[in-house]
Amino acid sequence: MSTFVAPVPELERQAIIDLSAIANNVRHLMGVAAPAQFMAVVKADAYGHGMAQVAQTAVAAGAAWLGTAHVSEALALRAAGLQAPVLAWLHTPATDFTAALAADIDLGCSGWELEYIVAAARALERPARVHLKIDTGLGRNGCSLTDWQALVEAAADYQRAGLVRVVGVFSHLAVADEPDRPETDHQLERFRQAVAVAQDAGLDPDLRHLANTPATLSRPDTHFDMVRVGLGMYGLSPFADLSSAELGLVPAMTLQTRIALCKDVPAGQGVSYGLNYATEEPSTLGLVPLGYADGIPRVATGGPVRVGGITYPVVGRIAMDQMVIDFGPTGRSRFGGAPGTAGIGGAGTGTALGVTAELFGNGNDGGPLVEQWAEAAGTVNYEIVTRISQRVPRTYVGQACMSGAAAEGDC
Ligand SMILES: *Cc1c(COP(=O)(O)O)cnc(C)c1O
Repeated sequence: MSTFVAPVPELERQAIIDLSAIANNVRHLMGVAAPAQFMAVVKADAYGHGMAQVAQTAVAAGAAWLGTAHVSEALALRAAGLQAPVLAWLHTPATDFTAALAADIDLGCSGWELEYIVAAARALERPARVHLKIDTGLGRNGCSLTDWQALVEAAADYQRAGLVRVVGVFSHLAVADEPDRPETDHQLERFRQAVAVAQDAGLDPDLRHLANTPATLSRPDTHFDMVRVGLGMYGLSPFADLSSAELGLVPAMTLQTRIALCKDVPAGQGVSYGLNYATEEPSTLGLVPLGYADGIPRVATGGPVRVGGITYPVVGRIAMDQMVIDFGPTGRSRFGGAPGTAGIGGAGTGTALGVTAELFGNGNDGGPLVEQWAEAAGTVNYEIVTRISQRVPRTYVGQACMSGAAAEGDC
């Protein structure tokens, strides 16, 4: 008969979001950007960090603007009670421009949207606030150089008719994360020309904006009237050769779970689908209950998991729900104090069952970093945090005392 007593329930896995780190990152980046205004880019659920919480934190820290890709994201900000100016810039003919206008959302416009925006302004009998977007070289969103003259003239006509107010002209940079490349200078030059063309057409946009995180940090000449910062606010570096710490930033997301099974296996034990890994000697394996359904890339074998102060690489294939680390030769106890009675499947003092496993965090204590997972997956830190899925609960710590945002006991 077992005398086992189940412990009080705790989160089995969580992405801990440090809102005070985000607030500090915002303040630091605002200082870098000043006197330009600061737009906190919170698209894609704030790169996986939680849109409403991050937006509230950024605004409380002094961000004047919020930025999203989609109108639907901007509407979600309004529904969450955010009243700061919001710009949304990526639309389709199915976008609800009327709802955007009714919710006081500024709209990016690359060309075709102008007629849709004007139709919404007519329907609501109020002028739409528009930021005209020029493609200065990225080759994605934005008006082509050849169409720009026609767009600014059309916008100027509608502005005189009281249907739109062109409050901004903006563009997006392609290679700002590689400061030595000359294309940023070319984009800057085209941007200046595009602003001049808009002014010649009678427009007087207050907000010229071009810089993303890397340009904010490396190119003061791109700051103009406002910078649009995403990645840096989350404490991550856009540069391959500079760490968060070297940029004065603190990563805000920590991803952790608990070891789900700890077991001794013989030499030659294959691990996970494909049996691509086998133990060389009798070993202890640790099962980490996170997988690609949680947003850990399947290709990221070798990514770091820290348990009990030691970082182990993932061995074998990452599956939908789980991955495995190899604690090494059997018989070494590194996890003294784990609760439970000695028993089947790794229960007992000295095993790793239930011990916290950290995939990445703020790096302060030498722990694993998002960038190591990006490296293992052949991608960038942006993608790792943004794709942590909704199956992983977010836990907020360090939040400022804002109405409705503070968890009990935090203030
Ligand atoms: C996502 C995005 C940004 C933010 O880029 P970061 O590199 O994360 O700072 C800025 N501007 C536009 C248009 C974007 O799409």
